[in-house]
Amino acid sequence: MQYVIIGNGIAGVSAAEAIRRIDPDGPITMIGDETGPPYCRPMISMVLEGRIGPERLPVRGRDFYDRLGIMPVLGRRATAIDVDRRQVCIGERRCAYDRLLIAAGADPRPIRAEASNLGNIFFMRRREDVHGIHHALDAGVRRALVLGGGLVGFKAAYGLIQQGIPTTMLIGSAYPLSMQVDARAGAMIREALVARGLDVRVNLEVRAFDGNGAVRQAHLSDGSHLDCDLVVVGKGVLPARSFIPAERIAVDLGVVVDDHMQTCVPGVFAAGDVAQFVDIARQTPWVNAIWPEAVNTGRIAGFNMAGRPVACPGTLSRNVIRIFDLDVMTAGLVNPPEDGTCQILQAEDHRRRTYRKLVLRGGRLVGMAMVGRIEQGGVLTALIGSRTAVRGNPERLLDAHFNAGRLVS
Ligand SMILES: Cc1cc2nc3c(=O)[nH]c(=O)nc-3n(C[C@H](O)[C@H](O)[C@H](O)COP(=O)(O)OP(=O)(O)OC[C@H]3O[C@@H](n4cnc5c(N)ncnc54)[C@H](O)[C@@H]3O)c2cc1C
Repeated sequence: MQYVIIGNGIAGVSAAEAIRRIDPDGPITMIGDETGPPYCRPMISMVLEGRIGPERLPVRGRDFYDRLGIMPVLGRRATAIDVDRRQVCIGERRCAYDRLLIAAGADPRPIRAEASNLGNIFFMRRREDVHGIHHALDAGVRRALVLGGGLVGFKAAYGLIQQGIPTTMLIGSAYPLSMQVDARAGAMIREALVARGLDVRVNLEVRAFDGNGAVRQAHLSDGSHLDCDLVVVGKGVLPARSFIPAERIAVDLGVVVDDHMQTCVPGVFAAGDVAQFVDIARQTPWVNAIWPEAVNTGRIAGFNMAGRPVACPGTLSRNVIRIFDLDVMTAGLVNPPEDGTCQILQAEDHRRRTYRKLVLRGGRLVGMAMVGRIEQGGVLTALIGSRTAVRGNPERLLDAHFNAGRLVS
């Protein structure tokens, strides 16, 4: 069996390791446009902060490819897939497969602003992006602008203020981390960020940039402008699907897969940020672009590619974030539709800066957000992930010391 994996991120790596557990000899080719050993992408923000050096990023040793008998094709992009001939195109070169995994991850969502190609405007997706930002910081930055209040935008802004750079965070929505938390938790997070000197501006977009070679000013949607000599764009991500023949392989937001991570084309699989599968909490197709799901779906894809059938029950969004001294933990559906199908339980303590929110549907926990006190968050996440029916009064789950054994049937 000949395997080809597109993408050397954690989904591709996890798949290769799973394949090797079952098939010690089948040739594996891994195509990745980033060079070097596989690394921990979420930790690039810690490099930006200066908390760790780039040498701490790799998640596998330099011998990873040799040790697993993988033929790496690094620094090259897969440009097309020929489904009929079972070949991946890398420019002119062709690479044959019996089993193919698309684990190409995601690309930063581009912004629609004039002159966004000026110097000192960066995304924050790759190791090299942080290298570029550091380089700009070394040359001297007076004020930074971060676009986006999601996970990446938040981490970029956090890293820059930790570096002592006056920073403005510009958010299109009404509060930070709006995909992860609700308005109440968002207000608490915003307060924590503002208290540490971050200038947070909401319901605003950037329309254009100005500068002579490098950025000097941003023009905003309310007609105002902002001086800035460094911009980090963190407006979310989109599955990296530009090279995928959508007329052959079903693509929605992400590459559509079944519970074996197989696409509509037999022998072609997808995993990680590029894949779209059922979200456990929402019970609808979804792209959960998070690290633990990339590990999990990659592993499941690898097993299935090598012939061991393993089914995935679904994916689940979840996150733990520390904002200075404020812990935030979220999982599942935090902002449910207002159609009366969900029960919402909340407990807030202003003085202690704590907030817990639970979302239940049909007697099952489907979402939670916790700020300040995140005790038993792991238990709640497991309840959501396993779709376990909650027994008794669910309000008890709002108490950080609830007895998990008494609440489930
Ligand atoms: C700053 C930041 C912070 C994050 N924080 C968190 C967090 O706190 N918690 C969390 O769970 N997740 C976090 N994430 C998300 C997490 O990093 C991703 O979910 C995870 O890395 C996805 O892994 P993947 O293997 O699917 O994709 P990727 O890590 O994107 O790897 C895919 C690889 O394939 C390459 N590639 C793409 N197209 C091609 C092609 N055509 N040919 C060859 N190679 C190609 C890409 O360049 C990349 O190297 C964060 C991400 C970022 C950027």
